[in-house]
Amino acid sequence: MSDATSAETSARKCPVIAIDGPAASGKGTLSRRLAAELGLAHLDTGSLYRAVALLLLRAGSDPGDGVAAASEAMTLTPGKVADLSKDPALRNDATAAAASRVSAISAVREALLDFQREFAEQPPALADGTPAKGAVLDGRDIGTVICPDAEAKLFVTASTEVRAQRRLNELQGRGVPAIYENVLEEMKDRDARDSQREVSPLVPAADAFLLDTSALDADQALHAALTFIRTRPAFKDL
Ligand code: C5P
Repeated sequence: MSDATSAETSARKCPVIAIDGPAASGKGTLSRRLAAELGLAHLDTGSLYRAVALLLLRAGSDPGDGVAAASEAMTLTPGKVADLSKDPALRNDATAAAASRVSAISAVREALLDFQREFAEQPPALADGTPAKGAVLDGRDIGTVICPDAEAKLFVTASTEVRAQRRLNELQGRGVPAIYENVLEEMKDRDARDSQREVSPLVPAADAFLLDTSALDADQALHAALTFIRTRPAFKDL
């Protein structure tokens, strides 16, 4: 897969920022803010795995069923993802856990590869209709597999305890009752699955800028990321 990978990514004409990292590291907020700041289109690639997982759960299929999962992944379109993104169930913990199982199936990853590459190669226009100046994709394997030639790569982390606390605050903010110890346990399970799987495990790309957000708020994380990104020639003038 990696040979095909580099050949296809060279079709890109506009710059890409690849942001990888574990759950609740702050990469989602950072990616959205970077996109808004720099005029880039943003793709939350976790939502693709969540979409496949949710479709499987709703069909009563096992998220570990490779054949069913790959066939859902092959039929995913930007329209379908946009519709599912409005569904609150996409963000719940059952969907996240199922997404983490679905994402370990190599046929699913293969099926979602073109979706992500197409977004990077031809980013959609921004909400106000302006053409995007490039794209920011966030996930687990953007800098290593999806866009290995991205013009800027960041690996965003935070301690497991800080991430569990953020997740707990988010759940409680939405009125979902949750207990810190359970959230921490689920976070550790998901980290282990994402980092130890055979296909596209969560690892920083060798040339990624490591950003630990444990002690940073969203503004400080944005500032640190922008400072790095502006050292990259493709983003100097954005
Ligand atoms: O980022 P988010 O928590 O929405 O991702 C849900 C799950 O999808 C992750 O735990 C991970 O297993 C999977 N994922 C992935 N590769 C990506 C994005 C997400 O394997 N690029």
